[in-house]
Amino acid sequence: MARIAARHSRMVSVKKLINAADDVVGQALDGLARGNVGIARLAGSTTAVRSDVAAVRAAGRVAVLSGGGAGHEPAHAGYVGAGMLTGAVAGEVFTSPSVDAVLEGIRAVASGGGVLLIVKNYTGDRLNFGLAAELARAEGVDVAMVVVADDVALAAESGAGRRGLAGTVLVHKVAGAAAEAGLPLAEVTRRAQRVADSVGTMGVALSPCTVPAAGRPGFFLDDDEIEWGLGIHGEPGVERAALRPVDEVVERLIGVIAADRGIGSGGRVALLVNGLGATPPMELSIVADAAARNLAGRGVTVDRIWTGTFLTALDMAGCSLSVLPVDDELLAALDAPTAAPAWPQSRTPAEPVTVPAPAGENPASGTLPADDPVRRALEAVAEALISVRDELTELDREVGDGDLGISLARGAAAVLADCPGYPGEAGPAAVLRATSATLRRSVGGTSGPLYAIMLLRAAAVLPASTPRDWAAAFRAAVDGVREVGGAEVGDRTMVDALAPAADAFAAAVDGGAPWRAALSAAADAASAGAAATAGIRARLGRSSYLGDRVLGHPDPGAQAVALWLAAIAGPSRP
Ligand code: ADP
Ligand code: MG
Repeated sequence: MARIAARHSRMVSVKKLINAADDVVGQALDGLARGNVGIARLAGSTTAVRSDVAAVRAAGRVAVLSGGGAGHEPAHAGYVGAGMLTGAVAGEVFTSPSVDAVLEGIRAVASGGGVLLIVKNYTGDRLNFGLAAELARAEGVDVAMVVVADDVALAAESGAGRRGLAGTVLVHKVAGAAAEAGLPLAEVTRRAQRVADSVGTMGVALSPCTVPAAGRPGFFLDDDEIEWGLGIHGEPGVERAALRPVDEVVERLIGVIAADRGIGSGGRVALLVNGLGATPPMELSIVADAAARNLAGRGVTVDRIWTGTFLTALDMAGCSLSVLPVDDELLAALDAPTAAPAWPQSRTPAEPVTVPAPAGENPASGTLPADDPVRRALEAVAEALISVRDELTELDREVGDGDLGISLARGAAAVLADCPGYPGEAGPAAVLRATSATLRRSVGGTSGPLYAIMLLRAAAVLPASTPRDWAAAFRAAVDGVREVGGAEVGDRTMVDALAPAADAFAAAVDGGAPWRAALSAAADAASAGAAATAGIRARLGRSSYLGDRVLGHPDPGAQAVALWLAAIAGPSRP
C-alpha cells in the first residue's frame, strides 16, 4: 500500500528544456552542428554528416554510417568526424529512422569505396537499415552491414536477440579508423564485425527516463531500488533489486560480462564506462575506479579506460560497462586520431595512479592534559558542534548550501582527535595555534578559514591568561574575522554573534565579574545577536544570493557561534 502511494506521488511530469516535444531532434542536431565545424546537418533531414563529406566522397573512401532513434546523445551524431562516422541518421526519440531517411543518408555519404552500416540490434533498426541497404545496392552502391548486439544481460538466444548498447561506440571507432586508413569495404567490415562479436556490455539504472513527447517516466523505481540489465529505451531491465555499494554493482556487471565473453586471467581489455544521461561525472569516475580494480583482481590487464557519457537513454541515471578484449591491432585503431567531438582522449592506465605529495608542516606535538581548561573548553565546543550538526545543516540548507553543520562537525571531530597532542606545555597561545592548524586542514568552506584566523589572532595577543588577556584575545579574534571576511555587525554573518559576545565578555571582565559569569554574558549576547539575524537580509556569503528569502531564518554561522559559546559557558551557568 505504502509502495503504491509512493509510486503515485511520483507520477509527476518531468521538466525539459525544449520548445515543442515534436521538434527536439532537429534542434538538437542544429545545436551540435553550430558547436562543431566538422559536423553539418543534411538539409531537410535529421541526419548529421561530416561537413567535408564532398571531399571524402571524392577520395573514394569507405563511408561509415550509423544511426537509430534519437535520445542516445551524444550517439550517434557526436561520433561524426574524420576517423569515426561519415554520417549518422537519427529517427525521432527512441524511434528507428525510416527506410527513406536511411537511404537518403547512404546516398549522401556513398562513394566508389562503398558504405558500411553500423546498426544496433533492434527490430526497427534492422528492418529500416536493412531495406535501405537493399535499395542502395540496387542503385549500385556497395553496402555492408554490421549489427551490434552487445547486451550480455539478455540470453544470446532470446527472442529478438541481444540489444545494441554502448559497445556500438567502439565499433564506430574501429570501423572509422579502418576507413580513414583507406582500407577496402571488406576489411573495414571485418574489423567492425570483430569488435561487434567480442564486446560485451551490461548496465544498471538508478532512475527511469522520460521521453519528451510522453512527459512522464517510463517506469518507476523506489528510492533504494536499481534495475539490472536495462535497455537504453526506458524499457525495464532483467531484474530489480536493492541498491548496493558501487564495488558490488561493478562486481556483478563485470562478472556477467566476463563469463559471457570468456574474459579471464591473462586477458587484455579496453573498458568503456558509460553514463546513461543523468549520472554525474563524479559517480562515473568512482565506477571507473571500481571497474579497473575489479578487472585487475581477475588478472585482466586493462589497456584502455574511457569514462564519460557516450550512449545515453535521455535522462536516465545509471551506467553501463562495456568490456572489449583487445590486441595490438585493435588498440591501434582505438588510439587512432579522430575529429569526432564525443570521442575522448584515451588514457593508458598506469600504476601507480598517484604521484608523491609535497611534505606538509609537522603537526604540533606535545601533550595537553585532560584537565587543562583550554582542552576542556575545546572539547565542550567540539561536542556541542557535533550534537547540533543536523540542526545547523538544515539551517544552512534553507539559506545557504547545506554544508555548515557537516563542516563544523568534521572540524570538531578533528579537534577531538588532535587535542591530546597539542603543546600544552608551551601555553594556551600555542594550543590555540595548534587548534587553528587543525581547523585550517579539516574545515574548508567559508567557516574554516574564518575560524582559523580567529584562533591565530587570539593566540597573538595572549601573553598570559588573565580574564583581561582573554577579553583582549576574544576582541582580536573577532577583529580578525571582520578584517578577513569584510563583514560588520548587521551583515547577517557570524560577526553578528561574535562582536556583541566579545563586547559583553570585555564589559563583564572590566566590571570584575567572575569567569563563568563573563562567559555567560558573552553566550547570551551571541544568542541575542544570532536571533536578530533572522530579520536581516544578507550582504555577504552564499545567503546574499537569496535576498528576502532568508528572512525568518537565523544565519547558521551566527547560530553556531551562539551554540558553542553556550557550551563553553557550561550547562550550569547562572
Ligand atoms: P559556505 O557558504 O562557503 O558553504 P560555510 O557553510 O562554511 O560557508 O559558512 C556559512 C557561514 O559563514 C554563514 O552562515 C555566515 O555566518 C558566515 N559567513 C559568510 N560570509 C562571511 C563573511 N564574509 N564574514 C564572516 N562570516 C561569513
Ligand atoms: Mg555553507
